[in-house]
Amino acid sequence: MEHATAGSSFAALAYLVAGVCFILALRGLSSPTLSQRGNRFGMIGMTIAVVTTLVTHVPMQAVGLVLTGPSGVVSATGPLFARIDFVTVLEILAAIGIGAVIGITTARRIAMTDMPQLVAAFHSLVGLAAVLVACAAFLNPIAFGIADMVIPMIGQPFAAIHGVSRIEMGLGVAIGAITFSGSVIAFLKLNGNMGGKPIMLPGRHVINLAVLAAILLLIAYFTQDQSAWIFWTITILSFAIGFLLIIPIGGADMPVVVSMLNSYSGWAAAAMGFTLHNSAMIITGALVGSSGAILSYIMCRAMNRSFISVIAGGFGAVADTSGGGDKIDRPWKRGSAEDAAFLMSQAEQVVIVPGYGMAVAQAQHVLREMADKLKEHGVRVKYAIHPVAGRMPGHMNVLLAEANVPYDEVFELEDINSEFAQTDVAFVIGANDVTNPAAKTDKTSPIYGMPVLDVEKAKTVLFIKRSMGGVGYAGVDNDVFYMDNTMMLLADAKKMVEDIVKSLD
Ligand code: NDP
Repeated sequence: MEHATAGSSFAALAYLVAGVCFILALRGLSSPTLSQRGNRFGMIGMTIAVVTTLVTHVPMQAVGLVLTGPSGVVSATGPLFARIDFVTVLEILAAIGIGAVIGITTARRIAMTDMPQLVAAFHSLVGLAAVLVACAAFLNPIAFGIADMVIPMIGQPFAAIHGVSRIEMGLGVAIGAITFSGSVIAFLKLNGNMGGKPIMLPGRHVINLAVLAAILLLIAYFTQDQSAWIFWTITILSFAIGFLLIIPIGGADMPVVVSMLNSYSGWAAAAMGFTLHNSAMIITGALVGSSGAILSYIMCRAMNRSFISVIAGGFGAVADTSGGGDKIDRPWKRGSAEDAAFLMSQAEQVVIVPGYGMAVAQAQHVLREMADKLKEHGVRVKYAIHPVAGRMPGHMNVLLAEANVPYDEVFELEDINSEFAQTDVAFVIGANDVTNPAAKTDKTSPIYGMPVLDVEKAKTVLFIKRSMGGVGYAGVDNDVFYMDNTMMLLADAKKMVEDIVKSLD
């Protein structure tokens, strides 16, 4: 008994240390300069948590017995028998090994531009894990130590699941199933297997509300009656609501959805932690859940979306994927690498606006080289980062950090937007939606309301993209291409910047 107490105190202490490491990891990840240190703290915390779970894995646990008659409890006994764990440490290690091989192979192969769908796929696995843990706990509650064996005077003995565990199980399976089906739809949309257009079911808000209310009522009922049909109905309805919440969301709003699903996956993990009596999972799940919710809130503000609408689903406007109809016919100016080099070398200040195209072309290294050359010419260089530029939160910051761009040259939208009016050249490299003034003026635009970088206010706008026909993620044309002060540099971003660097030499 003393041994068990010492073991559980050790586990509690180790989980606390792991929790502190996770908090320090989040703290580090909030700033590019500290992000590597943050990642290290995360890895240390996770190692402590996994090793502690393995070391304190107790294969035998005492189970109590309650004897009841038809009218209620007759007597309760102390520990009667021990439960034998259904997994061995060897099996766990094998599972970790298989997971590690899949994880390492995927991480090595995945292109940076495919990160959002990978993240969505990972979230779906967390959701599925929560569902499977809840199902296993429901089917074998004695093995999880969340039930007492009841031997009624009449009828078969059965495992009575503790009231609080039923709530945890109901919430765990519901959040897990919503995370799973929602993430699968997000994955299919981001991966292009499903169209990015919102699918609007008639009366979807009423249907969603009715299904959500039914799930909550069934969870409440489950605390009184542990019948299998209630548990499975909660599971099926939750899978359905995850699907219903995500299909009406259009492509342009997907970043917020991905971050919201990140938050859901955290809460699903926390619910799993309660079922498994694992405080490290509860702490980690709560941290992921709350930080994901905060990130979603920040992104909602960045895209001018309502936070409540995101949670309720179906807030996306109908995306116009026509590509903007008459764009080819409108006059526009084409420039060369030499023109761009000349204009920028004469400038006092150049603001670089990177976007998804820079990530596709992997132009960040040569871009830094170009900035270094401009600085040699006495030009002040700054980078303007839009919160949803690229295809994942922080995408541009990661790429620029990889190219060792000094952090003090990198500015967030709200800190740089007022500077465009005093900027000689706005150098847009592979960005489109995040510079589109339609977001400020056109109420029918799918990106209407999203704050954008005011590049059109600069004296000259240089715009790198591969063709006039290509449209950004939201599928809409950009009036900045056709402005008098805009020069289009049509080429692959890396090739164009390489040529500009040569011209600067
Ligand atoms: P966009 O998708 O709006 O535009 C990308 C631009 O890059 C296009 O004009 C494209 O034109 C050009 N491009 C593509 N490849 C190359 C290349 N090799 N060389 C040069 N140009 C290239 O990107 P933004 O970064 O401006 O906006 C991000 C969009 O993605 C927003 O709508 C956002 O909502 C959405 N999103 C963001 C996520 C996030 O978390 N950051 C996640 C999911 C979606 P062309 O084809 O002609 O070259």
